[in-house]
Amino acid sequence: MPLVDKHELMRCLSYDMLPYIEERYGVMNTGWTVIDIEFTGYGDEPRLRYNGNNIIIHLAQNIRDNVCFACFQLAHEAVHLLSPTGTPHTRYLEEGLAAVYSLRFMDEHFPGHNIVISNDPADLYLRAVYLVDPFLNAYPDAIKKLRAIEPCFNAMTPQTFHDAQVACSQELIDKLLAPFKSASAPPWG
Ligand SMILES: [Zn+2]
Repeated sequence: MPLVDKHELMRCLSYDMLPYIEERYGVMNTGWTVIDIEFTGYGDEPRLRYNGNNIIIHLAQNIRDNVCFACFQLAHEAVHLLSPTGTPHTRYLEEGLAAVYSLRFMDEHFPGHNIVISNDPADLYLRAVYLVDPFLNAYPDAIKKLRAIEPCFNAMTPQTFHDAQVACSQELIDKLLAPFKSASAPPWG
């Protein structure tokens, strides 16, 4: 299989993913520049690597020849570009949004694909999807409204929901704002 063309991925990010994401979920925080996409060592998790205010998007080396998987991982990282923090810390709201968007991107651009977040019901990314997907369906404009008040996911508080007039339950707000730690169980049942 030919290797995935990084420039093609960068074009996809700039012209397909980010315009879609910014229209629905609010604009990307300024001050950061994506300078490259790299394929990292086998088994390495996709992530954003920071170098000052520059961002290098890392995708897994083992999908280097699979444009479908590369787009899937890139779509997830594209959501993290909305409010980069320079740290790996995120919350369920942001991880769930990233996972949901990556699936939506696949459904739209690779119809018939067989990619799933996980087959393990305890998988935390799957838990995040189960949390955020119904939230987005119930409150389609919520992310945009929340980010108009507080652009950074990590800085949102229950007051942000109140100010943005996103009227979901306190229990749901607490779950959405809970820290996402990929190595531990969610802080609820
Ligand atoms: Zn993520």
